[in-house]
Amino acid sequence: MTRPGERGGVLVAGSANLDFVIRAGHVPAPGETVLGRGFDTFPGGKGANQAVACARGGGVATRMLLALGEDAFAAPIEASLRAAGVATTVVRTREQPTGVAFICLSDTAENAITVAPGANSLLRPADLPPFDDTTHLLLQLETPLDSVAAWARAARAAGVAVVLNAAPAQCLPADLLREVDLLIVNEGELARLSGVEGDVAAAIDALAVPDIVVTLGARGCCARIGGQRLLQPAFSVQALDTTGAGDTFCGTLVAELSRRQPFAAALRYACAASALACERLGAQAGVPSRAEVERLLR
Ligand code: ATP
Repeated sequence: MTRPGERGGVLVAGSANLDFVIRAGHVPAPGETVLGRGFDTFPGGKGANQAVACARGGGVATRMLLALGEDAFAAPIEASLRAAGVATTVVRTREQPTGVAFICLSDTAENAITVAPGANSLLRPADLPPFDDTTHLLLQLETPLDSVAAWARAARAAGVAVVLNAAPAQCLPADLLREVDLLIVNEGELARLSGVEGDVAAAIDALAVPDIVVTLGARGCCARIGGQRLLQPAFSVQALDTTGAGDTFCGTLVAELSRRQPFAAALRYACAASALACERLGAQAGVPSRAEVERLLR
């Protein structure tokens, strides 16, 4: 069980935002205005979502490095991390506001997202707390690339496994990829990183990373682990909001790996957790508990 302040398990270094979500009939095209039907705010950001997934969905001790502005948006973000049992190291700044994301969510569970990183853009290499007994460092690409690369290098040097969720999609310097033990990407991110379109197996083989997991939305996921191919179909659910499904997948997968589960079992667990997350609104609010995931797996 994870308790605030507890050390060890997984360290997440990444973004924390407040998500402003409008539900509408469809996602607007460029230049179009769509009247929405409902509005909510939810704590979000890939880093914070994955930390919550790791702690609540995965049930392992989880710490997070994050940056927040000195404004009203910071409190709900910290409250959500605390409620999930994530221990935090917070860089507070007056230079930038807390990060925000504007999300339009359609009736067909499609989304369009715009992010203003704010304080997230100020996280520096030296902000990373000591690893202590951390098994895995979990990173994404919503914080400065040079910091992500420096954190990965530091983890490698300390014998901590480096997991990179290369999202949002972008090209990466080869020296960052060299530090990564496990890469987690969706199909779009895989194509962007590898330069190979429309052939997942060939795209995986084009990347010089030891282990790769590719999430395939409602089709589940596939992987190349230690040279072996794995395939895990998705669990069938009534999808309401797929925002954060990828983050729930990443957090719970790394939690399972941190508790030394075999890779195939960890993939199955992450697919079950992320399917449950699709049934609920909100990236962090949608993360299921460990008990709920285990019920689906029975
Ligand atoms: P996002 O950025 O929206 O969080 P993503 O593109 O990073 O998502 P996806 O590949 O869409 O990630 O989804 C991650 C995982 O969530 C999938 O591997 C799958 O296990 C699960 N998932 C996604 N959509 C569905 C769905 N409709 N039904 C069941 N499981 C789903």
